[in-house]
Amino acid sequence: MKKGKLIVVSGFSGAGKGTVIKRLREKYDYSLSISATTRAPREGEEDGREYYFKTVDEFMSLIDYNGLIEWAQYVDNYYGTPRKFVEDEIAAGKNVILEIEVQGAMNIKSQYPDAILIFISTKDIETLRARLTNRGTETQEVINKRIARAAEEAESMESYEFIVINDDLEECVDTVNSIVVSQTCKKENRTEFLIGIKRQLDEINK
Ligand code: 5GP
Repeated sequence: MKKGKLIVVSGFSGAGKGTVIKRLREKYDYSLSISATTRAPREGEEDGREYYFKTVDEFMSLIDYNGLIEWAQYVDNYYGTPRKFVEDEIAAGKNVILEIEVQGAMNIKSQYPDAILIFISTKDIETLRARLTNRGTETQEVINKRIARAAEEAESMESYEFIVINDDLEECVDTVNSIVVSQTCKKENRTEFLIGIKRQLDEINK
């Protein structure tokens, strides 16, 4: 069976990645990896839905048992991608989205060179600050830390293959899907198809 692809979606905190991914999954067929984190759940978040919420000790033992494909520290907390779900889904031919920060994205790209790396940004930093403030889930101190982290992340943006601006949600979602579709159509991803076509023609022209 044809293997699925890994699609890494990163972006500034507040860029609307979560909403983009939710809509992407409503419109198209993607599976989403749920990360493990030591961050406390926000109001309305559920264990096993947004994240697997772990203690630091639990998280460390996940690392020890090779249960994570990648992990990183982000603003005082640990975040990591559980290995089994991702490997099983890819083997089953599913395209899997990882919504992770830049260190994790680079780590994934070195392990899975075929992974598609997409960075989602707001059109400017004012919009970002406004979204973080309006979300009302973080203290001013955390918002400032996240904006500071955004400056570091902007440096890494250049390592991504695709940068998508989330101004209009539907447009952003369709753009992300088009990127994945066009990557899938690249000739290096069509080797099996090419061999099949040539074999069929050989049979006919015998
Ligand atoms: P938040 O606390 O806002 O849910 O997430 C903070 C940051 O951690 C976001 O940039 C998010 O993409 C990233 N993140 C979430 N899960 C993972 C993960 O499994 N691995 C890595 N490296 N980053 C993650």
